[in-house]
Amino acid sequence: MEFKSFLIKYAEIGVKGKNRYLFEDALIHQMKYALQPVGEFNIRKESGRVFVDALDEYDYEEAVEALSRVFGISGICPILVEEEKEFSHLQQVLCDYVEERYEDKDFTFKVNVRRADKKYPMKSMDAAALFGEKLLECYEKEGMKVDVHQPEVLLTVEIREKVYIYSDEIPGPGGMPVGTGGKAMLLLSGGIDSPVAGYMISRRGVSLEATYFHAPPYTSERAKQKVVDLAKLIARYTGPINLHIVNFTDIQMAIYEKCPHDELTIIMRRYMMKIAEHFARQSGCLALVTGESIGQVASQTMQSLYVTNEVCEMPVFRPCIGMDKQDIVAVSEKIGTYETSILPYEDCCTIFVAKHPVTKPRLDVIQKSEKNLEGCIEELVQKAIETEEVIKVRPHGEACRR
Ligand code: ATP
Ligand code: MG
Repeated sequence: MEFKSFLIKYAEIGVKGKNRYLFEDALIHQMKYALQPVGEFNIRKESGRVFVDALDEYDYEEAVEALSRVFGISGICPILVEEEKEFSHLQQVLCDYVEERYEDKDFTFKVNVRRADKKYPMKSMDAAALFGEKLLECYEKEGMKVDVHQPEVLLTVEIREKVYIYSDEIPGPGGMPVGTGGKAMLLLSGGIDSPVAGYMISRRGVSLEATYFHAPPYTSERAKQKVVDLAKLIARYTGPINLHIVNFTDIQMAIYEKCPHDELTIIMRRYMMKIAEHFARQSGCLALVTGESIGQVASQTMQSLYVTNEVCEMPVFRPCIGMDKQDIVAVSEKIGTYETSILPYEDCCTIFVAKHPVTKPRLDVIQKSEKNLEGCIEELVQKAIETEEVIKVRPHGEACRR
C-alpha cells in the first residue's frame, strides 16, 4: 500500500502550555531537516497534530527512517487522506483501506473515530458503530471480528478538515525536539559510551558541540576519522555538530615527564575537561557531557570522578553514569554507533596509560603533582586551544572545515 502522508504524534510537547507552539515549530524544523535528503514534503500543523504530505515520489522506508530519528516524535502513522466526507463514501473508503492494507483478514478490530470537525453531522460513537458494521459486512466471512477491549488492529478515522484513516503507528524516538533545550559540549572519544551520552542528552532537546582530543603521531588520522564518523552518526539525530579537534600531544608528554605515572590518566582528564570547558563557554554551551559510568575503569571511580569534576565550573552531565556496560552497548546498537565504536583504532588515553593507575586519587595529592607542570602547562594549553581544528559535521553530505 502506498502512503502519501503521515500523521506525527508527539508526547511531551503536548503538555507545554503556552510555549507549546515553540516546541511544535522546533519539531517541524527538525523534521524538515531530516526529510531534506529524502524528497519534497510539506509539513503542517493542524490543531495539536503535525502532518507530513509527500509532494512527489519518495522512498517510504527512507522517509520513515528519517522521521524515526527526530526527537520529540512519539509515533509515525502512515495515513490515507480523503477529502470527500460523505459518510457512506467514507465507509467504502475504510473498507478499501482494509482490503489493501491487510491481505489476511483473520484478526480482531475496533474502529476509533475522532471528530475534530464538530459540524460533522454524526457523533463519533455512532460513526464508529456504522463503520464497524460495514467492515463486518465486507470481511466477517474472511475472519474479521470486533473486539473493543483488546483489538489486534485499531482502525482510526479522524474527521477534520479532511478525513484521515490509519491503523499503524511506528514508534518515534520520543524526547524533545533539538533546539528547545540549549546547547552542551560533548567530550567525544572513539569509544562506545560518549556517543551514547551525546544521544541521550540531545534526546532532551539539547543541541551539541563536541570536542575530541588526539595525540598525533601517537594516534593516527584513521582514529580521528573514526571520531568524525561517529559525530556524523550522532548528527543524524542532533543535526549539525561543530567538532573541535584538539592536539593534546604536548600536554600529554609534559604530564608524562613531570607527574607520577599512576596519576597520568586522571591529570589528563582534568586538562581535557578544562579545555573542553573553554570551547564550551566560547560557543555558548551551558554544560559538558561525558560518557562516564561509575566504576567502569580506574578513571571513573567515585574518587576519580570527584577529582576530575573539580576543575569544571559548568555542570557536567554524565547520562551513562548509572548504566551497566551492556545497557550502554544496547543503546549504541540501537542508535547505530556500535559498529563504528568498536573499530580498533588507538585512543590518546590508552597510549600513555599506566599499568596500575590510581583508583582512589586524592585531590590534594593530584593538585600537588600538577604543581610540577607549572611554568610550562599554561603555554601548552594555550597552544592546544589556538591550534584547534573545527569540523562542521552534518548528517547528510560531506563534513567541512570551518
Ligand atoms: P568512551 O567509550 O566514551 O571512550 P571509555 O569507557 O573509553 O568511554 P574513558 O576513556 O575513561 O572511557 O573516557 C571517559 C569519558 O571521557 C569518555 O566517555 C569521553 O566523554 C571522555 N573522553 C575520553 N577520551 C577522550 C578523548 N580522546 N577525546 C574526548 N573525550 C574523551
Ligand atoms: Mg575511551
